[in-house]
Amino acid sequence: MENKYRELATLVKKAKKIVFFGGAGVSTESGIPDFRSDNGLYNLKSKYDAPYEVMLSHSYYENHKDNFFAFYKDLMIPKNVKPNDAHKFLASLEKKKDISIITQNIDGLHQEAGSKNVIELHGSIKRNYCESCARYYTLKEMLKLGDVPKCPKCGGYIKPDVVLYEEPLDQNILTKALITLQNADLLIVAGTSLNVYPAAGLISYFYGNNIVIINLEKLHLYREVKLEFYGQKVGEVFNEVKKYL
Ligand code: NAD
Repeated sequence: MENKYRELATLVKKAKKIVFFGGAGVSTESGIPDFRSDNGLYNLKSKYDAPYEVMLSHSYYENHKDNFFAFYKDLMIPKNVKPNDAHKFLASLEKKKDISIITQNIDGLHQEAGSKNVIELHGSIKRNYCESCARYYTLKEMLKLGDVPKCPKCGGYIKPDVVLYEEPLDQNILTKALITLQNADLLIVAGTSLNVYPAAGLISYFYGNNIVIINLEKLHLYREVKLEFYGQKVGEVFNEVKKYL
């Protein structure tokens, strides 16, 4: 195992442009459950009138705003969480290497750890917009605007800037992610089941040879993988790797 950590450290040192492609598993070590693991959100019995997977859809948001916001504030906005060793490692790596993070997470923890080059494919709980006048609200502001938040300026509904099922990804963000991947020579895929599209399909735009996977469960990638760390946590792997950097 020690050799594998050393090997990953060597790949990182030699790389000219690194992309870290992550998902919910990157934040489980901060105490935020993922969706599809045994104790993930989708395996919990819903407290509301629909399964959580359905409650995260655009049509549910449109038709059941009361329940949507009760659920969203209760389960999608994590309380008292801090960046973990994985977020911190990536933020410190950015000081010496050209690294971009493409994340499916909406928790903002990479930026909180200090990372600057972060592409958020699915938006962020930290941002909210009025659907009528496009006025911006922080998370703190949105939480003060009632059970179903409405814009104090125009009365429109305020929607979290997160991509719900049935909603398209932002084209500019998607294009930025594609170009970033195409220019990279090391891709680290971590903490994601690669079940959510189009995000998961993006990694086929990586044309380099060095793909590394760090994930608790095994993934099926139809590409040659240079190094695999299965059954291991992202933060734990990075804590070992940094000893060789
Ligand atoms: P997922 O729940 O489908 O898969 C998580 C994967 O991470 C699993 O394969 C699991 O084995 C692995 N994993 C869990 N903890 C790990 C750890 N410590 N180290 C290594 N691997 C670990 O998550 P996904 O693929 O990101 O897709 C779910 C969607 O849910 C995403 O679109 C994301 O937006 C959203 N989501 C975000 C958050 C967040 O912002 N923190 C949390 C839950 C879900």
